[in-house]
Amino acid sequence: MNNTILNHRELYRLPWTLPDNAISWLEPTSMCNLACDGCYRDNEKDSHKTIEQIKHELDLFVQKRNSDCISVAGGDPLVHPEIVEIVRQIKLRGLKPILNTNGVALTPEFLKELKNAGVFGFTFHVDSKQGRGGKWKDKSEIELNELRFHYAKMLADEGNIACSFNATVYEDTLQDIPGMIDWAHKNIDIVNTMVFIAFRYIVPTMPFDWYAGGQKVDWQTIIYHTEQKRKVDILSTDMLKTVKERIPEFKPCAFLNGTEKVDSYKWLLTERVGTRKKIYGYLGPKFMELVMTFHHLFKGTYLSYADTKTSKMGRSTLLFLWAFDKGVKKALFKMLRNPFRVFKKSYLQSILFIQPVDFMEDGRQSMCDGCPDITVLNDELVWSCRLEEHKQFGQFLRSVPKG
Ligand code: SF4
Repeated sequence: MNNTILNHRELYRLPWTLPDNAISWLEPTSMCNLACDGCYRDNEKDSHKTIEQIKHELDLFVQKRNSDCISVAGGDPLVHPEIVEIVRQIKLRGLKPILNTNGVALTPEFLKELKNAGVFGFTFHVDSKQGRGGKWKDKSEIELNELRFHYAKMLADEGNIACSFNATVYEDTLQDIPGMIDWAHKNIDIVNTMVFIAFRYIVPTMPFDWYAGGQKVDWQTIIYHTEQKRKVDILSTDMLKTVKERIPEFKPCAFLNGTEKVDSYKWLLTERVGTRKKIYGYLGPKFMELVMTFHHLFKGTYLSYADTKTSKMGRSTLLFLWAFDKGVKKALFKMLRNPFRVFKKSYLQSILFIQPVDFMEDGRQSMCDGCPDITVLNDELVWSCRLEEHKQFGQFLRSVPKG
């Protein structure tokens, strides 16, 4: 456990709740054109929802949740034949459409169509355990930076589309995070966010029996299980520790706690500012509090993804907000060590670590408190990471310590 690396009282707790949350999660299809190792969705062919179903789910989000953006995921949303219309429907409701895709189906022409329909941003899932073929077969995380660049450049060429990447983090790829973060720094002008999500699955070494209500369930029937003994308890603090070994000044500013554990960092957010050459500093909790408060005050929602114009406002952030936040002040001083830097554009970049479900010794399951990736199933709001349990057993499973 690396929890001593952080004190949650010194971080800003993101103000997201069930009814008032920056993000909601729409899944128009379960179908996918890749088969990622850590995927928690059953890759079903012909699982596309109809536009009517999707409109209904969007209306439900609008009714139940005050969101800034809709993450459109799956499956891969780009394989849905009506994805352009889906994006349009989201935009029509005053929400930002963010496409969470592996990028395989994306072409510059398709991108243009999506942009015309109102797409706000993309989160590309790129990592080394997706079974990618061709040129990308068996490439390491670091070698895949070339593919990440391909997508970032495609968005930059089209212009005004926010660009994020996510990667599932496994025991053997944990040490690659700093290399991906370094790459993101070198492309800070076109890469807005990097997300690292710790791998979770049900494995034979878990000391639990599984129950749907009073009914015992065979763990091998749960979609996200593996017979192999794999590490499924990587923490956000493990990822942070790996990064700090390379970048000692790396400093998170905000978090979401676990439902069962106040000092666990289910979402651990870091915000930095700089240029392609130099990171000036890491912004502090007061900066994030200002951003969330002002966005809510003036726009009525908590901010999820910033637009590309805002991400280019690193310099103004330092010049105008230094009095409010120690991290901003420190970064400003570093920038001013060379006064000519005042004339140079600088950028904001977010780095997020996500630590999905944790199982406590007594069987309690600690989820993300204020889960942003909540989706809809049978008109109910459910955690998207555990949707398959609900589909399979009609409810979330309980984990009960073995007798
Ligand atoms: S609870 Fe699950 S779906 Fe919600 S944010 Fe955490 S990992 Fe994502």
